[in-house]
Amino acid sequence: MAERMDLEMLWQSLETRAALTPEQAGFVFSPAFDPHRERLFGMADEVRRRVLGDEVFLRGIVEFSNVCRCQCAYCGISALNAGLPRYRLTREEIVDTIGGAVAMGYRSFVLQSGEDPGYTADDLCGIIGAVKERHDVALTLSIGEWPREAYAAFKAAGADRYLLRIETADPALYARFHPHSTWENRHRCLQDLKELGYQVGSGILVGLPGQDGASLGRDLEYLRALRPEMVGIGPFIPHPATPLAGAPGGTLAACLTFLALLRLYLPDAFLPATTAMGSIDPQGRQKALRAGANVVMPNVSPMTHREEYQLYPGKICLTDDAGACRTCVERMIVGLGRTVNTGQGHIRRRVY
Ligand code: SF4
Repeated sequence: MAERMDLEMLWQSLETRAALTPEQAGFVFSPAFDPHRERLFGMADEVRRRVLGDEVFLRGIVEFSNVCRCQCAYCGISALNAGLPRYRLTREEIVDTIGGAVAMGYRSFVLQSGEDPGYTADDLCGIIGAVKERHDVALTLSIGEWPREAYAAFKAAGADRYLLRIETADPALYARFHPHSTWENRHRCLQDLKELGYQVGSGILVGLPGQDGASLGRDLEYLRALRPEMVGIGPFIPHPATPLAGAPGGTLAACLTFLALLRLYLPDAFLPATTAMGSIDPQGRQKALRAGANVVMPNVSPMTHREEYQLYPGKICLTDDAGACRTCVERMIVGLGRTVNTGQGHIRRRVY
């Protein structure tokens, strides 16, 4: 009876978008919620359909450097992985890679790299400017923590969006996995990006060692307060060349639960069905698209370096070029009764 009463209160909280109590958050991320999970996914899917319609947006990812100065304990390309061959694309290679994907119908790109000290802010401005001059595309940067002045320079050079996951809203948990930086600086970066007028993407890792349901509830509230234009979440997947090699990974059920809650709390945000979800379950991205997601981010990087950019093991699509990915992703989207948006996919804020 007590559980039924709690459930009624829980559904009421979700329907009214009230903050979850730590107990409610703990419950929805526990196995006890399994019999009710599909109802939550259905609610999120309905909000997505009602607020945003059936379109799915494509963002082509260009992984232009796997050099990174950081030591994120879960990441396969961190500076700690001394055995990994490193690469860095030139400006022309980046511009040409995007040109090839534009010919296949992509109009929105994410330039992603480690925090590579081999590029100065001026170098990156040159790359951004060259891409925007040659191609009529929307450009998202995913290149980590920089001073505010650098973010301002990237924006002036033509960057439209910036993706920087907070990873966790818990500063103590953050400190365990990021010895090179502080949570406060990460948060500062996100505030700077918002103030500078970027369309901001953030997100978290689900399943980090030491993370519990109450912690995920706080992540949800952090993201709700930040109100980013996009939120990408992925399961923690232990990489054999990292200090967390032996830790248990995050589950798809927990990721989909967080995704569905995000859709309820941020109805108009872009929420990707992430490649990492598809890497722990062959139907991971399809399930995410049925639980609130409305974005897919195919890898359009040159084939030559795909193997060397594995933040986590078992990453899918390493052998599919941009054209094959485009076909495969479109088939997946259409197969779900959805349509592919072929535009640049800028945010349209709604009243909700
Ligand atoms: S997660 Fe990003 S910043 Fe951290 S080590 Fe990996 S590439 Fe570098």
